[in-house]
Amino acid sequence: MSFLSYVREQFEEAAQILNLNEGLREVLEKPERTIIVSLPCKMDNGEVKVFTGYRVQHNSARGPYKGGIRYHPDVTLEEVTALSMLMTWKCAVVDIPFGGAKGGIRCDPKSMSQAELERLTRKYTMAIARVIGPYLDIPAPDVYTDAQTMAWIMDTYSKMYGEPTPAVVTGKPIALGGSEGRNEATGMGVAIVTREVAKYLGKPLKGARVVVQGFGNAGSISAKLLQEMGCRIIAVSDSKGGIYSKDQLDVEKIAEHKRKTGSVINYEKAKNITNEELLELECDFLIPAAIENVITAKNADRINTSAVIEAANGPTTPDADKILFEKGILVVPDTLASAGGVTVSYFEWVQNLTRSKWSVEDVKANLDTKMVKAFNDVMRTAKEYAVNARQAAMIVAVKRVAEAVKALGSWF
Ligand code: GLU
Repeated sequence: MSFLSYVREQFEEAAQILNLNEGLREVLEKPERTIIVSLPCKMDNGEVKVFTGYRVQHNSARGPYKGGIRYHPDVTLEEVTALSMLMTWKCAVVDIPFGGAKGGIRCDPKSMSQAELERLTRKYTMAIARVIGPYLDIPAPDVYTDAQTMAWIMDTYSKMYGEPTPAVVTGKPIALGGSEGRNEATGMGVAIVTREVAKYLGKPLKGARVVVQGFGNAGSISAKLLQEMGCRIIAVSDSKGGIYSKDQLDVEKIAEHKRKTGSVINYEKAKNITNEELLELECDFLIPAAIENVITAKNADRINTSAVIEAANGPTTPDADKILFEKGILVVPDTLASAGGVTVSYFEWVQNLTRSKWSVEDVKANLDTKMVKAFNDVMRTAKEYAVNARQAAMIVAVKRVAEAVKALGSWF
């Protein structure tokens, strides 16, 4: 089964529980607009290469489309479509006034120079400029894109339309209207949710053993913040492999080691392990913060934790979900656990449109309120419908989006 069929299945389940009629289901399942663009780009050696880019706008009933852009060699239209749908649900779970979208370019950013990435980003922006905008569709960073990528998009868009338009993207550098705390936001959201999960399960956060898969923006910052909150980070990993220490790892030192060597592996005070082994370590909280489909029916039985907090998009397959549920493991779904990023994106957008600037304290306090409210909404719904947290998050989201679609009325 593909990632897209998993995401559709999750939606179908919620639609069934909510008894949505067939027409409404179809409206909510299909993206409103899909764009595929060819992007000729001059490489540093003078050759021209043509890349393929996508932007899928899933639903806009609750507000402008919102969602990141990823650069990765495995990007496909199917994947971007699934992720665009997840964005619609994510924005609805945390109750911010956006719909969902996702974009991507199939490329290998690790083998490209900054100059090549800049040219490719500007080409992509020109190609999709007519369908993005501060009140239409607002991109943000995702896998292997960052504040610099957003700066290039904003600049290209602003030059095309002849006016500075910071609100066309979020996740910008602070100097260009980015928000305090946006870079750390996904990790902050994960840490807040983990704190709430500990409370919910009646477990102390202090001394809790945490395993984090992925040491990119979401993974490394979640690990750092949870360590500050008193957790013991016993294992981390990146695409090259993982490291483990039965006591704990010093996250700052590992970040430095990764900066120097390009990976977390071969850290002298830890044991090298594989990404597969890492997922099966005994721990209190397991945080997959890398890519989709890593907890599957193959390894779910061996997952040994109290809770899985999904910092990545789509790390658990539906089969695995069922196994984890039967084992009594709480899975906090991506649409809730990873929503810190888009929530602070929303704060950034509000600051841009109102020409204001919030302090980092204000950003943190508002994020905390939003995340705690969303967590409680989801856990209450789980109880009310006697379903797991993922189904509950889907019910909360689909209900909100369906209500908006119905309230808009119909043209047909
Ligand atoms: N790419 C992030 C996500 O998947 C952030 C999206 C945004 O801020 O618009 O949630």
